[in-house]
This record gives sequence, structure tokens and C-alpha cells, in this order.
Amino acid sequence: MSPSASRRRVLAANWKMNHGPTEARAFMAAFLASYSPKSDRTVLIFPPALSFTTVRDALGARRDVQIGVQNIHTEPKGAFTGESSASMARDAGAHFVLVGHSERRHVFGETDEATAKKVALALQTGLTAMLCIGEKWEEREGGHTDGVVLRQLRAGVSLIDVEARRKLMIAYEPVWAIGTGKTATPADASAVHAVIRRELATLCGSEANAAEVPVLYGGSVNKDNAKSLLEAPDVAGLLVGGASLEASAWSAIAST
Ligand code: PEP
Repeated sequence: MSPSASRRRVLAANWKMNHGPTEARAFMAAFLASYSPKSDRTVLIFPPALSFTTVRDALGARRDVQIGVQNIHTEPKGAFTGESSASMARDAGAHFVLVGHSERRHVFGETDEATAKKVALALQTGLTAMLCIGEKWEEREGGHTDGVVLRQLRAGVSLIDVEARRKLMIAYEPVWAIGTGKTATPADASAVHAVIRRELATLCGSEANAAEVPVLYGGSVNKDNAKSLLEAPDVAGLLVGGASLEASAWSAIAST
């Protein structure tokens, strides 16, 4: 990503396991009719795998909205029934992949090691990895937020070199805020983003390199709180789950 691209706001929709092809087609028709292209931002949609081509085809020639996949396997190919590889995702037209989402970590037991492998494979394959990190409520209560986030960040980039790290996106998503309706305050989000930004300067070799990496906030974002979160220092964008499932709400958030 170029330095100027890094200053673009990033608004990303994670549909999780919602919107099969029929619903995805209807969503895209409604969303594209209401969302007007804006040159100062990158808008991303992460549909479930079975709706990926529906979303891709609905986008047609529109380049203002891009698509990614929600997951890839740690291995490039092989006997892994039910899984999809990074190269398949790329072949299907994906440019982005979510890695280390809290549901992958805490529902499917994905480890820091697996997350690191996925980040490395994604970048080798030409996908931009959006590495998701965030603490559980008990970790926050115990004063361990920075430690948890830094451990996940360092582990996630451990298999790629300084140069490749500049091509990442990071999403800070406190686990206690995902799908709960409890949003971090802009001040809480900023405080953790500042910690992440400082560490990125080390991991990427310099502050200038780290500036190329957008750090998004995610966790119960909606059209009413999006603006204040985006105005918080060091918050470069938003990763949105539930509120991205309804076309007019997502259009409003993507336009914020
Ligand atoms: C997410 O799934 O990444 C997310 C942030 O979900 P929600 O917006 O529903 O909390």
C-alpha cells in the first residue's frame, strides 16, 4: 500500500455466517444503489465463502468497493476437507483476508501460531491480511489489555519480514465488544490504538513504515457511534459485523 493509500479511511464489513447468495444479491443491489463512491476511503466486504462470487459479480466494474474472504487455511493446498486456500481466494478475485478474528481464535481455537502462518501465506499469495487482535473482558479487568494485544500482534507478524509488515492492516477488536452492543469508548479505543501504533513502529522498522498500516477499530460499531469512533486519534477505520448486514445501515457507515 502506498503512503497516501494508508491515509485513506478503511470501512470493512464482516458478514460472518450471514447472507447466502440470494440475500447477498439483494443486499448488493440495495447497497450499491445507495452508496456513492468516495475517493478518500477503501470500502471492503467480507462475505461468507459461498456468497463471495455473488458479491464479486454484483460489484461488476465498481472499484470503490473491494472484497475479501473471512478465512484461509494455514496450508497452501491438500487434504483439508471443507477448507479454502489463499490461492483459491486470490483466484476467485479476493484482495483481502481476515486473519485471527476473535471467533476464529475463541470459537475455533485458532492459535497465535496458526494466525502467523495464515498472515504469511496471505502475503505470499498477494492477499492483504487484516490481522485482528483484542482482549477478553477478564483480561481487560485484570489490566492485561496491552500485554494481550501486543502478544497477538507480535506473534501475528512473526513469520514475515519488516518489508511485508507494511502491507498489513490491523483491526483492534476487544472480544467483549464484538456482537454484544458494548462498544469501547473512543478514548478506550484510542488508548489501545496508540499502543499498537508504537509497537508497529518497532515491528515495521520505522514510524514512516508503520504509518502505512491502517489500524481499525471493531466491536458493536453502528451508524450512530461510527463517527465518534472514526474521529478518535489513531483510529483509521472500522470493522463492522452486525450493523453491516443491513444495506442502508452499511451504506450510512461506509459514508461516514
Ligand atoms: C466483527 O465481527 O468483526 C464485529 C466487530 O462484529 P460486531 O460489529 O457485530 O460487534
